[in-house]
Amino acid sequence: MEPMPGRCFLCGQTLPKAAMSEHLQACRQPQPGGVPVFLVLVEDGYFPETYWLLLEARQDASLSALDDFLRRVWVDCCGHYSQFVIDGQVYGRRPNPSPVEIVLDEEAHRLTMKPLLRGLLTVGQAVDYLYDEMWPSELRLRVLAAYAADLPEGAARVVARNYKPPRACSVCDRPAAWLFTDEWPLRPYCDEHARQHPKWETAPDAFLPYVNSPRVGLCVYRGPAEDALKFEAYPPPTN
Ligand SMILES: [Zn+2]
Ligand SMILES: [Zn+2]
Ligand SMILES: [Zn+2]
Repeated sequence: MEPMPGRCFLCGQTLPKAAMSEHLQACRQPQPGGVPVFLVLVEDGYFPETYWLLLEARQDASLSALDDFLRRVWVDCCGHYSQFVIDGQVYGRRPNPSPVEIVLDEEAHRLTMKPLLRGLLTVGQAVDYLYDEMWPSELRLRVLAAYAADLPEGAARVVARNYKPPRACSVCDRPAAWLFTDEWPLRPYCDEHARQHPKWETAPDAFLPYVNSPRVGLCVYRGPAEDALKFEAYPPPTN
């Protein structure tokens, strides 16, 4: 996967990943008041130069609020188990645990996600995140800075993220709209060629939308449910 530049959502500029965190700290207007937040870099464990985002999270938010946010922006397909590993301690969460899973999680000394970020995180800290044990999506988080900011609403917001990696249809040159998942590697198709595929009618679930997320093509992932959290722009042409 190729490295992707990203967009700063505060000013709209396009920048390489390596320049973004410094840019954000200059781009951000210093605000009187505001709430304490952490600036957190989140990157895909497998393709960290392709899929990455920077978010501001309230320091008084809980781990489960951060988990919710990551799920909504990037990974949630159908409510799998997720966990953070912080200083060797596992904080896990199952949206719908069975009685057996509750016992097993206790025996594995997994903690809940009730603790607040401010009690767990410090600047410079690295955190591992996993969503779904069977077809895992693994993310790495790093706390880059702590400051006061006005968050418009909720526990966290995205302040910068990668553009969608361009991918061509396997039949023509048009941008991929779908991935056919009954084949490995997953085969990209434009909308027209997906609809001409013999399996389009007989196995529609084998086609998943080609979306800008490290979870693309896995399980039943179709992108964020909320339009406000979608970001499907391709990188602007460079001159
Ligand atoms: Zn900016
Ligand atoms: Zn799923
Ligand atoms: Zn095509």
